[in-house]
Amino acid sequence: MTEYRPDKSGRFGEFGGQFAPETLMPALQELETAFETAWSDDVFHSQLAELFASFVGRPTPVYHAQRLSERVGAAVYLKREDLAHTGAHKINNTLGQALLTKRMGKSRVVAETGAGQHGVATATACALLGLECVVYMGAKDIERQALNVYRMRLLGAEVVAVHKGAATLKDAVSEAFRYWVSSVESTHYIIGSVVGPHPFPYIVREFQKIIGIELHDQMSGDPGSLPRPDVIVASVGGGSNAMGIFYPWIRSGVDLVGVEAAGHGLESGEHGASLVAGSPGVLHGSMTYMLQDSDGQVVEAHSVSAGLDYPGSGPEHAYFRDEGIARYVAVTDVEALAAFHEFSKLEGIIPALESAHAVAWVLREAADLAGKTVVINLSGRGDKDVQQVAAMQEGGAQ
Ligand SMILES: *Cc1c(COP(=O)(O)O)cnc(C)c1O
Repeated sequence: MTEYRPDKSGRFGEFGGQFAPETLMPALQELETAFETAWSDDVFHSQLAELFASFVGRPTPVYHAQRLSERVGAAVYLKREDLAHTGAHKINNTLGQALLTKRMGKSRVVAETGAGQHGVATATACALLGLECVVYMGAKDIERQALNVYRMRLLGAEVVAVHKGAATLKDAVSEAFRYWVSSVESTHYIIGSVVGPHPFPYIVREFQKIIGIELHDQMSGDPGSLPRPDVIVASVGGGSNAMGIFYPWIRSGVDLVGVEAAGHGLESGEHGASLVAGSPGVLHGSMTYMLQDSDGQVVEAHSVSAGLDYPGSGPEHAYFRDEGIARYVAVTDVEALAAFHEFSKLEGIIPALESAHAVAWVLREAADLAGKTVVINLSGRGDKDVQQVAAMQEGGAQ
């Protein structure tokens, strides 16, 4: 396994860095120091390993998807992050950062959330560790995601409505950062993906790399083990589940494929494919590929899947893209929805709409994948999406 860190200024090649207001710099520095100390401490690692095993249910299994394999003509395996507690990989990161919060002697966590998945994973980790939890959420999203708002409140979190701007995720991020700056002594900010100013992309990658490390043990290709993968496929929103499974496999000869949301189609301009169809710029504190207009203004993303509905992706993915370490592709809403239905019937597993994008790419590229060993990172389960898909079918959208 090739291990490396971002450079001293928090860059992966030309991407990343710290494009943040002066007022935030001391907090970012404090966080970097606290993380470095924790990450070189065996006690911290054993606390996290214990929680991963007994609370999250790690290691998550690898499952040979037999009927999907027959359909595709390849040996297709699923890395079952959908079986992690709360139903997705997000808990790996929130638990790690909540533990770090305790270590820093802080008693409160602030987070942003769009559809509410990261908010729920954060509220869960905070309940477990007895931390106060404040979640900023756009007022529009609060209306659309009533069930997740209720879940967060059940878990003891305070959900704060953001009415500014478009009252969605981007505005919630700004407000959460503002709150963090004003209460940094007692509060840690738990970001939801491998995005944001350094050291966040690095920290989130370190907490998520457990996915790819486990896969190394599970698919080593040694006698008695499963075969080594030829291809690893994962959906990319901000990029944390993809980074988590890719990073331990970089430069190993395995084809790493990140699947972005093509939404209504790349040519429609309504999509979330920043690596495939975006350009370099500064988004949420770091230099990365993003969706922007000719004036450098952020363009709103679109995807049927809330987790992929983000106008950028993590700076390390931008680096992977330009270096050819991984490749990035996109599938449309229509393709993802078809895969959501087909996969459910074939495998008895309802996938998250995000994960259905990775499945859709495998179905589409079956001819090229014939005879290969393919791993899909099944980042989450689809229970959260069933109501949305049902409503869309009734509405005749699909
Ligand atoms: C949030 C989410 C994603 C997208 O986020 P990444 O940081 O790109 O992983 C993908 N799958 C599921 C199930 C999610 O909840």
